[in-house]
Amino acid sequence: MRTPLIAGNWKMHKTIAQSERFISGLLPLLYAADGVEVGICVPFTNLQAMVDSTRGSRVEVYAQNMHEAPEGAFTGEISAAMLSEIDVHGVVLGHSERREYFNETDAALAEKLLAARNAGLAAILCVGETEQQRADGQTEAVLAHQLDRDLALIDAEALAALVIAYEPIWAIGTGAVATADQAQAACAFVRSRVAAIDAAAAESVRVLYGGSVKTDNAAELLSLPDVDGALVGGASLEPESFAAIVGAAAT
Ligand code: PEP
Repeated sequence: MRTPLIAGNWKMHKTIAQSERFISGLLPLLYAADGVEVGICVPFTNLQAMVDSTRGSRVEVYAQNMHEAPEGAFTGEISAAMLSEIDVHGVVLGHSERREYFNETDAALAEKLLAARNAGLAAILCVGETEQQRADGQTEAVLAHQLDRDLALIDAEALAALVIAYEPIWAIGTGAVATADQAQAACAFVRSRVAAIDAAAAESVRVLYGGSVKTDNAAELLSLPDVDGALVGGASLEPESFAAIVGAAAT
């Protein structure tokens, strides 16, 4: 059995003060959320404060990006060691906003996944197609292209521990959530692509759905056989809505 993961991606939202208010509101709402892992993916400047404020709770703290190199002349970047030094649990890699606005490449992502693994960081790798690619019948080809390149450098053990978020770009921040059939088919395809690399890893890799997950659609999406949780953007910004989605994944 795979433990579901509900991860909230705050993107470029919340100061430290706002983050502290969020955590104070969230933690009491999670007391009954058994059998589910909870993560928050926060801006770099909030990482230390959130690690401190969530210590001993069920909430794990993720960064939203990192550089693949161990150190060097990369102004403005953060390394895996810098994240693990402050007890950050993991990192989101390859979000479509980073691929689109910051030219993140599959080659860099393969290196980043390896660097995360070597630093003991959990990784959530995001993949997904545009609206046009889906209309052109290219969804599976796009996912295969991304996965085959992104997963090229990690070993079977890291693959088994990985979280992969299927996030159709047309569903992110639009309210146009994928149908249950679309989400299940794509997440099953992601798992099958992992199985082609390592069959055992495919049984334990967790595949999340992301894209306009809200309190009113979470239960259906989370009930799908190949959906092991959700990556949540907008609805993760308020403790009540985020806790309700966590509750939908709880046993
Ligand atoms: C996201 O940022 O990864 C996301 C899925 O956003 P939203 O839930 O707002 O669509």
